[in-house]
Amino acid sequence: MKVLTIFDAYICLDRKNLSIKCAQLKEPFNFIDIVSLKDLDLFFQKFFGNDTCPLLIEFEYDGKCYLISQKKSENDIAFFIQNIDAIKNILLAKKEVLFDGLTKCYLKKEIETFTQQALENFVRYKKEKFSVMMFDIDFFKKVNDTYGHLAGDYVLKELAALVKKSLRKADICGRFGGEEFLILLPHTKASGALKLAMKLNKLVREYLFEYDNKTIPIAISLGITSVSYSDSYHSIIQRCDDALYKAKKNGRNRVEYL
Ligand code: GH3
Ligand code: MG
Ligand code: MG
Repeated sequence: MKVLTIFDAYICLDRKNLSIKCAQLKEPFNFIDIVSLKDLDLFFQKFFGNDTCPLLIEFEYDGKCYLISQKKSENDIAFFIQNIDAIKNILLAKKEVLFDGLTKCYLKKEIETFTQQALENFVRYKKEKFSVMMFDIDFFKKVNDTYGHLAGDYVLKELAALVKKSLRKADICGRFGGEEFLILLPHTKASGALKLAMKLNKLVREYLFEYDNKTIPIAISLGITSVSYSDSYHSIIQRCDDALYKAKKNGRNRVEYL
């Protein structure tokens, strides 16, 4: 049995620019090699964890989101991108799930993916160096205890907006934990990351966080590190976390580089 995997169009959501791209393909495009029904089963298993064949399916490939549907005839099975307008709406809704609701920063798994991609580009394709920065609010538990949880939420939201305003367009900020953030700094060497970290530290310290007519003093500790060729995702995150820990240990409200 001949099984075709032909796409007559493609559509994807660019997670970084949040733009939706779609295009009709001039030539049929063999996307995945499927030469037997077993391959087809594997294809569905891989993306859905079962062997059913839904009419409309969605999967991620190379960090991009695709939606396809299949058409079966007696001898052939072909896959098509269809109904692009409807799919566009689904993708627009999908934008929402990339971000944390409170801070509007990328979710942990998203910032992880961006960092992994940057690392792969650097190690495999010898592209430009990048740095990562992790920062954490100092004594945030005390903020919640003293001013209340809603005031804490306000601080998180305001702080994220303040930090994001100070970043370049290419920088990517994610909420890594409760009051801990990770920023990916593409094309940035250690010196540049250090300058930015000092700037953010000062900016936050001097910013007036005001909730319920009360001024809440806020400071952050920052850890930074730059990628090297021997790095794995785990090692770069660990080093950045160690730098942050060092900043905490050395008195907080400061920057450390490892
Ligand atoms: P350190 O300087 O060592 O970082 O001290 P800390 O008090 O900031 O650290 P700790 O990890 O003990 O406390 C973090 C607090 O952050 C505890 C948790 O309740 C609070 N937190 C985490 N997520 C949220 C949130 O979404 N909203 C609010 N209001 N608080 C949060
Ligand atoms: Mg903290
Ligand atoms: Mg913390």
